[in-house]
Amino acid sequence: MRKLLLVSLDAFFVRDTYALDPDGFLSRMLREGAFCRRVETIFPALTYPIHVTMVTGCDPHRTGVGQNQPLQPGVPGDLRVWYWERKHIRVPTLFEKVKEAGGRSCSILWPVNCRNASVRWCFPEVHPLRGENTVLKVLRYGNPLYILSEERKFGSLRQGIREPGLSDYAAAAAADTIRHHKPDFTALHLIDLDEARHHHGTFSPEAAEAIRRNDRRLEALFRALRETPGMEDALLVAVSDHGQEDIRETVNLTRILREHGLDRVLTVQSNGMSACFFPGEGYSPRPDPEKLLPEALWKEMGISRLYTRQELDQMHAVSDPLFAAEAAEGVVFSDALDEEKREKATHGFGPGREADLCLFAVYGRGVKAGAEIPSMAMRDVGPTLAGLMGLRLPDAEGTDRSAEFLV
Ligand SMILES: [Zn+2]
Repeated sequence: MRKLLLVSLDAFFVRDTYALDPDGFLSRMLREGAFCRRVETIFPALTYPIHVTMVTGCDPHRTGVGQNQPLQPGVPGDLRVWYWERKHIRVPTLFEKVKEAGGRSCSILWPVNCRNASVRWCFPEVHPLRGENTVLKVLRYGNPLYILSEERKFGSLRQGIREPGLSDYAAAAAADTIRHHKPDFTALHLIDLDEARHHHGTFSPEAAEAIRRNDRRLEALFRALRETPGMEDALLVAVSDHGQEDIRETVNLTRILREHGLDRVLTVQSNGMSACFFPGEGYSPRPDPEKLLPEALWKEMGISRLYTRQELDQMHAVSDPLFAAEAAEGVVFSDALDEEKREKATHGFGPGREADLCLFAVYGRGVKAGAEIPSMAMRDVGPTLAGLMGLRLPDAEGTDRSAEFLV
């Protein structure tokens, strides 16, 4: 098995690849490695479902993870649970395949991977709900001894779960784990850029600074690989999940459904720049449920188009929504009665936007220098990672493209 370090640069997308510092590490990765900058993401473009697709090679209709959170109508945002645990995924992941092949994995802030028995070193991606203690929750969802050992070394780098400290911490812990334990597979999720874009805007100076910080983190991680005996031949793979678009207007869909007397028949879950509609308590089955939202309502709701159930099936979406809606440009959907989002940019949209196009870049010995692969699907990422490691993901729907990246 060939060792591999997978780094997810959350919210990095195609446009960013044309604006990189030419002297930075990512530029070097693209110049001396092989890459695709048009990896088409899934519907909806949300972090948790995409990261699940990356390590399974399956779309949400098979993984069962089609949102960050299970549907929790009426529950305030800070009390909603997320899909934190491995048990939510219905298909095998790369972590299990590595273990079956006798390898050991490290997972740092990788979504939907808490309490995964196949992961040897887990710093869990989980966050406290209102009234919960962060430290206790992190310890319960990951490997306590491992977390405490990294915490002793790098705890001073972070202030709670705020960025950029959290990503500095995560990258330092990953490099340290590489140097001390030499994992066969390390998966690291860096949220810094996503946070910067949400808070300051898609192309804000703060977002550009976050990209430069990720660049330095990648370089330090690569150095850890090269300086660690037994890790020199490991591949470094950088991936991303979605871009973002700026927000002009927030539309509270729950309130509008209520104002039009539709809240008994329909329940809505916002994905940000799209939304899924589910049967409410008073719903009775009908042939075209999307007709419950007549086109006259779309403008008030900030909807640019609807996806019928049949179209959701063609997009390999999860099976439970009746239909979905895409937000008009600059519109973000809210579904909670008591909170409006206060963000400058976000994601969660459907196909066809530039911000759907993501990065898959491979760097290391035996990689085709400067090869650009024109297009990939997000479901190809899992089997391709497996292929690069000399493994297989037999349940994947995507294609192993590893041969296109290697000499
Ligand atoms: Zn994300």
